[in-house]
Amino acid sequence: MSTATNSDLPKQSVPAEEELWSNYETSLKNAYEGDRIDQVHATGNEPDSLIESNWDEVCESFDEINLREELLHGIYAYGFEKPSAIQQRAIVPCVKGLDVIAQAQSGTGKTATFSIAVLQQIDTSLSACQALIMAPTRELAQQSQKTLLALGDFMGAKCHACVGGTSVSQDIRKLEEGQHVVVGTPGRVLHLISEKYLRTDNIKMLVLDEADEMLSCGFKDQIYDVFRHLISNVQVMLLSATMPGDVLDVTTQFMRDPKRILVKKEELTLEGIRQFYVYVEQEDWKMDTLCDLYETLTITQAVIFCNTRRKVDWLTDKMHERDFTVSAMHGYMDQKERDVIMREFRSGSSRVLITTDLLARGIDVQQVSMVINYDLPTNRENYIHRIGRGGRFGRKGVAINFVTEDEKRTLHDIEQFYNTRVVEMPNNVANLI
Ligand code: ADP
Repeated sequence: MSTATNSDLPKQSVPAEEELWSNYETSLKNAYEGDRIDQVHATGNEPDSLIESNWDEVCESFDEINLREELLHGIYAYGFEKPSAIQQRAIVPCVKGLDVIAQAQSGTGKTATFSIAVLQQIDTSLSACQALIMAPTRELAQQSQKTLLALGDFMGAKCHACVGGTSVSQDIRKLEEGQHVVVGTPGRVLHLISEKYLRTDNIKMLVLDEADEMLSCGFKDQIYDVFRHLISNVQVMLLSATMPGDVLDVTTQFMRDPKRILVKKEELTLEGIRQFYVYVEQEDWKMDTLCDLYETLTITQAVIFCNTRRKVDWLTDKMHERDFTVSAMHGYMDQKERDVIMREFRSGSSRVLITTDLLARGIDVQQVSMVINYDLPTNRENYIHRIGRGGRFGRKGVAINFVTEDEKRTLHDIEQFYNTRVVEMPNNVANLI
């Protein structure tokens, strides 16, 4: 195998973790106003996605894919019976070692797709990192690590998550023990590579989860920097729910004849999600509306989205003042706190979670059947990321949008963009859950 690296890529500086976070949140906010505005036809939710599939092979069962026995065992033990649409198409080219761009809606099994591809190709007798997976948020990275470990349970695969907000010395210790796979966020991964704690000589696979975010302004430089350290013929796999044109352009710089797989509209839909709005005239009235809905929210579990972390904190305080039990999470909280909050929410001990778009991308909380947009997202693409949470793997859900006079226009835009209808919330909304 060639050991040449990609060091001819331009060198970039490494921003601090806080800066990355602020970049990430800003990039989400700016995405709509910025250059993505003319990419409205570029999402997988549109009939004319920018990418077209150039790989048509479909494998309808895991048995057909020719996976190693222990991995197949892990897949069935995890409870998967049949590959999802994206898995039926994307696992095979990934396992063949080809560069792949896979686009499918959030919640359709992309994490398992690359996890299976990575596990199939690692050599567990070699105690070295052979695959690097990068994700834009700590939660996503940790979730991928869990999936990987679970699917690779019978293979003895070792996988460590290197994410910001946790102890670097623990990462170093874990890496010294030998990990076959490393999942991480860009800042921490880059740090560990630069300091030579994470050796790249054996890394033959690079996965970018939520590739559109990873290759947009907030993270692009760090990804390039990581890439410079990897062997020149590293296999690159990109997965995302949306693939704007500028991101596709970037991929030509580091992918070789990528197989493109798009799972189209049939799966990229708001179908099954009942979408409502509540007109509140003034911003101040949203709070009372939310309190009126509280009983309904706790029937199962609900996520409430605000556009800023400040608003999340403010709303959480106000709800607590009125004796409502809610939890809150955003990117500026320290990692331990975020872990506890996610654990409580996953276990069901907390039932209402107030958050920013941080949570909208792909975090899997099966029980969530209700989403409230306290603020409408400023970025249309985030609407489906938020709402889609309740509709994972065919599950049904209810979405309620709080709309002031000023936001009416935004809601109208969203309806047009997704070619969907959002109707006034009926009084019996609790019966729909
Ligand atoms: P994505 O990465 O596209 O957001 P995930 O891989 O997180 O989606 O999958 C979403 C949910 O569906 C997870 O709970 C996962 O365990 C489940 N899932 C994935 N693939 C399958 C499958 N083939 N059969 C059943 N459930 C699956």
